[in-house]
Amino acid sequence: MAVTALLDVLVLGAGPAGAAVAARLLQRGVTSFALLERYALPRDKPCGGGLTGHAGEAFAALGLALRVPHVPAPRARVRFGRFERTVEMARPVDVIRRVDFDADLIAQVREQGAEVIESEAAERLVVRADAVEVTTNRGRTLRARVVVGADGVASIVRKHLAGNAKALPHRLYMQELPAGGSAVPRDTMVYDFSAMPDGIRGYTWLFPAPGDRINIGIMHYPADRRGGPELLRRMRERSLALGVDAPAKGALGWPVWGYDPRAPIAAPRLLTVGDAAGIDGLTGEGIAVAMEHGIVAGDHVARALESADFAFGGYRRAIRRAVVGRELALDRQLAHMLYQRGDKWREWMALVLFDPDVLEMYAARVSGSQVLADQKLRLARAMLRHVVKRRGRLRELAAAMA
Ligand SMILES: Cc1cc2nc3c(=O)[nH]c(=O)nc-3n(C[C@H](O)[C@H](O)[C@H](O)COP(=O)(O)OP(=O)(O)OC[C@H]3O[C@@H](n4cnc5c(N)ncnc54)[C@H](O)[C@@H]3O)c2cc1C
Repeated sequence: MAVTALLDVLVLGAGPAGAAVAARLLQRGVTSFALLERYALPRDKPCGGGLTGHAGEAFAALGLALRVPHVPAPRARVRFGRFERTVEMARPVDVIRRVDFDADLIAQVREQGAEVIESEAAERLVVRADAVEVTTNRGRTLRARVVVGADGVASIVRKHLAGNAKALPHRLYMQELPAGGSAVPRDTMVYDFSAMPDGIRGYTWLFPAPGDRINIGIMHYPADRRGGPELLRRMRERSLALGVDAPAKGALGWPVWGYDPRAPIAAPRLLTVGDAAGIDGLTGEGIAVAMEHGIVAGDHVARALESADFAFGGYRRAIRRAVVGRELALDRQLAHMLYQRGDKWREWMALVLFDPDVLEMYAARVSGSQVLADQKLRLARAMLRHVVKRRGRLRELAAAMA
């Protein structure tokens, strides 16, 4: 079996997380690295394509640019049964198509000097005292001082770190269609929670997409098991309510694990980023998250190479303290409240929909114009208002559902 020369870093996966790690390593002067990608590029990825959160800051920090077609959406419409409210976002969310977006991110890091190995998958890794050995499906062994798992939901690095720990995944499905007869303006993202009373713990979406297309989808939080056929039926029902008649075939689904601040995301010589480390539990988003993780990971790897200390003991704490980790931890708590089993979700949904400030706060979080984790006083004030107003709001919620 062929064994290659020792690299400083091997990054598994050439999605947004892998591209971000590569860009950061280059900024830090690390050049002895390669990205290993299972598929030939460009490869597609089921996704809503919304560049939410602090994507803009991540691009700027990484010296990358958004060079592909995108639709700016400066407003979001939230629906629940008969209730509907549109909120303005201080910054538009850009909606991209992943096949173009991911290919261009990789093109940018290649232009800067990154080596990308395509159509070769990591199958097994062994951590030795001085290096990590990664065996691939081409029967060779790549060796690196550090391996970064940017290899998505089925990450072999995540499996290595988490052992047999089992968590139920979020389930997401999406479908892309010509915009056709959609009643939704091309500058608006729709988030529809109308299926919550039927047991769906999450929302359906309808986003404008480049090329006069729309992207529809559903995210279900794992409070309760729901099968794919039911999720797809709900997705189509809710799209139909907005004038979009989606064909029965063509949706793509994907299980994804939510970020858990207590879960292991690093070990000596190993780090995870992006979906391998966990997505946003409330929204199911992860593109900006992957890029923000990539910045922290790139910095830690560069420091480890300088100091020859490959323990990565501080990585989990650094992620937790970064804006991305604080937002993910807060969203995890909010998801536990809003998407819980039983009837308690009604309390929180009534707060979200009928408080004068909560949707605005969340819109600012989605557009990346504010850090929600810094708004705890405002959130606490909203909770206090809810204590006084909850009965009336629960009646309003019941009326919206009727
Ligand atoms: C239906 C759906 C809708 C979504 N909508 C949104 C949205 O609107 N906005 C948002 O921000 N996020 C959204 N997300 C989440 C988002 O798609 C992910 O969070 C994002 O792709 C994470 O990037 P990543 O680089 O970590 O992983 P990925 O994009 O999955 O990239 C991982 C890469 O690793 C490669 N790979 C895997 N295993 C190996 C291996 N063993 N060896 C070599 N290479 C390997 C894969 O081929 C892939 O190219 C959505 C997800 C789904 C499923």
